[in-house]
Amino acid sequence: MDDCIFCQIVDGDIPSRTVYEDGDVMAFLDANPLAPGHTLVIPKDHHETLNDLPDDTAAEVFAALHDLTPAVEAAVDADGSNVAFNNGAAAGQEVPHVHGHVVPRFEDDGGNPIHAVAGQRPDLSDDELDGIAADIEAER
Ligand code: 5GP
Ligand code: ZN
Repeated sequence: MDDCIFCQIVDGDIPSRTVYEDGDVMAFLDANPLAPGHTLVIPKDHHETLNDLPDDTAAEVFAALHDLTPAVEAAVDADGSNVAFNNGAAAGQEVPHVHGHVVPRFEDDGGNPIHAVAGQRPDLSDDELDGIAADIEAER
């Protein structure tokens, strides 16, 4: 994808502070970090969202996240991290090349947990919850 920022990083046309690279996956520091050590993990091939990722690529991306998260935390002496994907424009995804964020967190950093990302919590009945669970199971 010629006009994709992250594809241009993969191709070396845009510089990045790369912290990990293998045949399928790359990880680099976020250019506008939410915290020191904020790292992005991407598949090298262009896929827009998690939903578009082939199974084997998804496994590679998750393996890299699993490997890198403790390294990121240790490098900046973090107390924890949020590891998350903005999956689709409605969820706040700005760069349409799938990427996982590792955002180091520190005691009393004033940030929020993942629970703060959505709008008002829905008030769902037991029947509605049962229906949603069944629909998800059926959609797989
Ligand atoms: P999104 O909102 O799509 O989940 O997050 C995109 C992230 O990419 C943002 O945190 C933003 O700072 C980062 N970003 C955007 N352009 C560049 C770039 O050219 N280089 C790097 N390293 N990060 C970028
Ligand atoms: Zn791309």
